[in-house]
Amino acid sequence: MKNKSVNRRDFLRLSATAGAGAFILPNTAAAAIQKTTATTNSTSGFPVRTLGRTGIQVPIISMGVMRADNPNVVRAAYNSGITFFDTAHGYQNGRNEEMLGNFFKGKPRDSFRIATKVKFDQPLKDNFETEFADMFDISLKRLQMDYVDILYAHDMKSPEIVKDGRVIEALKKLKAEGKIRHAGFSMHNNNAAQIDAAIEAGIYDVILLSYNFKLEKLKELDEAIARGAEAGIGFVAMKTMTGGSEDAEGKTQINGQACLRWVWSNEHIATAIPGFTSFDLLEDCLAAAQNPQLTPNDKEYLAQLCGQELLYCQQCGKCQDQCPENLPIPDIMRAYMYAYGYKNAGLSKETLAELNLAKDVCKKCDTCKVNCISGFDVAGKIAAITPVMQVSDVFLS
Ligand code: SF4
Ligand code: SF4
Repeated sequence: MKNKSVNRRDFLRLSATAGAGAFILPNTAAAAIQKTTATTNSTSGFPVRTLGRTGIQVPIISMGVMRADNPNVVRAAYNSGITFFDTAHGYQNGRNEEMLGNFFKGKPRDSFRIATKVKFDQPLKDNFETEFADMFDISLKRLQMDYVDILYAHDMKSPEIVKDGRVIEALKKLKAEGKIRHAGFSMHNNNAAQIDAAIEAGIYDVILLSYNFKLEKLKELDEAIARGAEAGIGFVAMKTMTGGSEDAEGKTQINGQACLRWVWSNEHIATAIPGFTSFDLLEDCLAAAQNPQLTPNDKEYLAQLCGQELLYCQQCGKCQDQCPENLPIPDIMRAYMYAYGYKNAGLSKETLAELNLAKDVCKKCDTCKVNCISGFDVAGKIAAITPVMQVSDVFLS
């Protein structure tokens, strides 16, 4: 295993940024938490924050439903006071949205918020508008709802696509039709320039982004988040637990509570959407939300993880040109994280299937030519993910 060359001193230096300055200044963190928890959820007791200009009051803990297939876990989350549920058109081939639709049927519409996502080819194809609208209509049908609270354009990859007039018009149209309350986009690459593009575009109310203690360009990102918050954009955090494991092989469960508390130390992050799939993991997330202030032990623990490889690829795309087959390495690394960190081979295969890779594409190389600037062992992970690509769907349902 390769270790990333960030030591504890580096980590503390990287933490001294706009949003994460609180990491080394506990009193500032406490002030941030106080400032944003003036309102408290009366049933759950955990803090709520305002999701930018949407005005939505959202508990700091929400549910990323992506991997959950047990409606009883959704029920437990809802009964615990979680009100915000995140899904996507593509999750579990639509079954994820269907499960939520069946669960929320008949429940007061103001007792929960739903965000879903629709993915599309980038650059845009000629039929983008009809395909996007049709896919979203299917999502609404599965959810059995007239509208969703937030629709994210899924996995936006560049500032250009964020500012693309056709994407903006498609979202505006759905808003005018009353099918979405708020528009947003998700991004995996944490590109600060995409946040600035969103400020410029003016249509995006919410951004869903990967946010965790392992991020390398944290200062740059936090400054962009602060600019976005100033402009009224609400921020939701995903990938908060860097793949859920303390090691690159996915053997030891990470301390999710410490990860979440670190995320909440940035007051501009309104809520986090960990993808819990069991009652135990839900309990763990709720316990963190009820005690959200970052502790010295959390800091010590996270600092020692900073120098290790873990499962989280920064999605920076800087290795892209090194692969002679021009494979989408960041997406493949994400699929690796799903398989070995989340232990979800189905989701991993779904992610790979969306990339339309030939099953034996890497066979052309004797050794992988990709060198990650962050010390991520790409070659090892390509070798480990290949069997997931080849296993039959029959064994993954
Ligand atoms: S082995 Fe590495 S360099 Fe070769 S095709 Fe696969 S990812 Fe690209
Ligand atoms: S493998 Fe490394 S260089 Fe490539 S996207 Fe991930 S972090 Fe960036």
